[in-house]
Amino acid sequence: MADVMIIGAGPAGLSAALRIRREGLSVQVFEGSMPGGQLVNAGVVDNVPGILKVDGYRLASNMLNQAAGLGAEMVYERAEKVTGTGHGFSVLAGGTAYEGKALILAPGVVQRKLAIPGAEELAGKGVSYCVAADAGSIRDKDAAIVGGGNAALSGAAALAGLCRSVYLIHRREQYRADTAVVTEALSHENVVPILSSTVTGLVSGEDGKLSGVTVRDKDGREKTLAVSGLFVSIGQVPDNEMFRDLVELDENGYIRTCPDLSTSRPGVFAAGDGRAKDLRELTGAIADGTMAASAAAAFVRSL
Ligand code: NAP
Repeated sequence: MADVMIIGAGPAGLSAALRIRREGLSVQVFEGSMPGGQLVNAGVVDNVPGILKVDGYRLASNMLNQAAGLGAEMVYERAEKVTGTGHGFSVLAGGTAYEGKALILAPGVVQRKLAIPGAEELAGKGVSYCVAADAGSIRDKDAAIVGGGNAALSGAAALAGLCRSVYLIHRREQYRADTAVVTEALSHENVVPILSSTVTGLVSGEDGKLSGVTVRDKDGREKTLAVSGLFVSIGQVPDNEMFRDLVELDENGYIRTCPDLSTSRPGVFAAGDGRAKDLRELTGAIADGTMAASAAAAFVRSL
């Protein structure tokens, strides 16, 4: 039985794993997709104090290697079911039931989907939720990106270096992104801001791939932009349904935590973007991991 089991190998989960190992306890980390969470797709990261600029993918790899190098056991399976057992917790993953004394939930969040007709059918055929993964397929073509946060603006800047033009579609006049990120994105001449507008339709060509997006402005005027790719970057939503019977969630589906990052269930702690909090940033996720691990270690020692 592991001392601590961690669900999720994003920055919060890996930071927790590092701390648990430094406490001398055993830890298993469950990850069903690529370790690193959103950091993998963040491009250049420059908001971690002391690190001037680093590629997000490299930083994520370093976090993984650091935790694994210290003895954290990585289980590359999606946790399918998490339950209390009376003497600890059980995580069902890849057909195996793993047991641990304490649990840290660090599941992160998932991309919010574009809720318009055709978006699901055209996913992977021009509609993408990840600039880092799919930008290469649209080299020298016209693209659009929807959203007004840091991810959309830094995505627009990344696409500007590859694409002929990048329409940056945002539903309001003001961007949510940090000023520095906005300035960088709009410094590219081929980034074309389309403000106070929403994407209302998708057009597909004879090959079944995306060939255009229809946008409607605040006065109700519609126009269709000819693009080969639409990158959707409209924030995230929690993916915590699996934990609903285990811990208390808030009205938006985020895990409620106390100041020490314990949850409504003794022995279960939560860290990172999947818990209820005001600010979701890399440095906060890292700090969450450390705090949750410290509290989980104290819980294990108290048994
Ligand atoms: P975000 O900050 O939540 O921004 C989401 C954007 O999508 C907002 O502009 C929002 O519009 C818009 N939006 C939401 N729902 C929409 C809908 N249904 N239709 C159209 N637009 C919609 O999300 P994010 O940009 O993914 O960033 C998430 C977190 O990661 C943030 O904390 C961010 O700072 C961090 N991050 C940082 C960096 C960096 O520092 N380089 C890079 C990426 C991400 P409104 O503004 O009108 O609400």
